[in-house]
Amino acid sequence: MTDKILQRLRPELKSLSAYKVASSDGFVKLDAMENPYQWSDQLNQQWCEYLSHAAINRYPDPDPEPLKNSLQHQFGPTHKDIQFLLGNGSDELIQLLVLAIARPHASVLTVSPSFSMYQIISEMLGVPCHSIALDENHELDLAMMLAAIEQHDPALLFLAYPNNPTGNLWSRADVEKIIQTSQGIVVIDEAYGPFASDSFVDDLKQYPHVLLLRTASKLGLAGLRFGWLAGHTELIAELNKLRLPYNINLLTQLTMQFALDNYNVLAQQAATLCKSRAILADTLAAIPNVHVYPSEANFLLFKVYNASANEIFNKLLASKILIKNVSHQPGLADCLRVTVGTETENQAFVNALTAALG
Ligand SMILES: *Cc1c(COP(=O)(O)O)cnc(C)c1O
Repeated sequence: MTDKILQRLRPELKSLSAYKVASSDGFVKLDAMENPYQWSDQLNQQWCEYLSHAAINRYPDPDPEPLKNSLQHQFGPTHKDIQFLLGNGSDELIQLLVLAIARPHASVLTVSPSFSMYQIISEMLGVPCHSIALDENHELDLAMMLAAIEQHDPALLFLAYPNNPTGNLWSRADVEKIIQTSQGIVVIDEAYGPFASDSFVDDLKQYPHVLLLRTASKLGLAGLRFGWLAGHTELIAELNKLRLPYNINLLTQLTMQFALDNYNVLAQQAATLCKSRAILADTLAAIPNVHVYPSEANFLLFKVYNASANEIFNKLLASKILIKNVSHQPGLADCLRVTVGTETENQAFVNALTAALG
C-alpha cells in the first residue's frame, strides 16, 4: 500500500534530501548569518501594540502597496518603471523564478561555491543548474562564465553580490559584462546588501532583464520570512502570476511595515555589525595558522592551516560554539564560515578557536 503510494511520486524525489539545519540548543549560534541583536523592551511593546489591531479573521492584503512603497522608499530604486514582488523569504522568490523558466531545455547558471538554494531549487523543479567555479581569489572566472552563457544560454543566472559563503564583492566590471552578455534573466542577490559597500540598485533601470533580490533575514528579521524582488514592470507582472495569493501573511506584513517605520534601529545594528566584523577580522588575522578572507557581509570566511577544518569545527562544537563547516565545498578546502555576533559571542568564538588550534 505505502509502496504503491510512493510510486505515484516523481521518481527524482528519491535522489533529493530534505534541507537539514544543525541543532543549536545551548550553543553560541554563529552559523546562519542571523543578526544577534533583539529589539529593546520598549520597541517590542510598541510592536505588540501595533500587531494587536490586526484583523486576523480576514485574509491579508493580497498585494500590499503601502508596504511596497515603504520598501522602495527605503531601499530604492524609485524609478517609475521599477516594481516590487514580495516573497515569503527570498527562497520563495528563487523558487518562483525557477518555476517561471522551467520548460524543456531551459537551464540555470550560477557559480560555485555560492548560495546552495539556487542549485537545490533547480534540482527539485527538474531544471539543470550549471555552476562555474570561482577562481582562487573567489573572483568570477569571466572567460568561463561568458563561455557558459554562450554554451547553455541560461534562462536564469544567479549572482550573489556579496557572495555567500566567500563574503566578497566581485569585480563590478565582470558582473556588468555578464549582465550585458546574458540573453536570459540575471538575478543579483543582495541578501548582504546592508553590510556591503556596493549595490546594483541604481543599475536596475537600465537593464530590463535584471532583477534585484533582497531579504529581511540578514537585516535582523530572519524569523519573519520576508524577501522581495525589484525589477522592470513587465517582467514583475508576469512573475506575479505565479505567486500564490496571500503569500505574505498579515503578521509579516504588519511587522515588516513596523520595522521599516523604525528602520534606524536595524540600520544601527548593521553598522555595529560592520564595526564588529572589522575587529573580528583583525583578531583572526593575528592568529597563527589562520587566513581570513575579505568580507562585505555579516560573516567571515577563514582557512585553517596545520589542522583540518573538520577537526576545528568539532572542537568548537565541543566548546558549544556553532559555526558552519564549508570545507567540503569546491575550492574551500579547510575553510570555515563564522557569522559576526555580539562582541561577547565573537570573543567566545576567538577563545575557542585559539584553544582548538592549540
Ligand atoms: C541567506 C541568504 C538568502 C536569504 O534567504 P531568505 O529565504 O530570505 O532567508 C538569500 N540569498 C543569499 C545569498 C543568502 O545567503
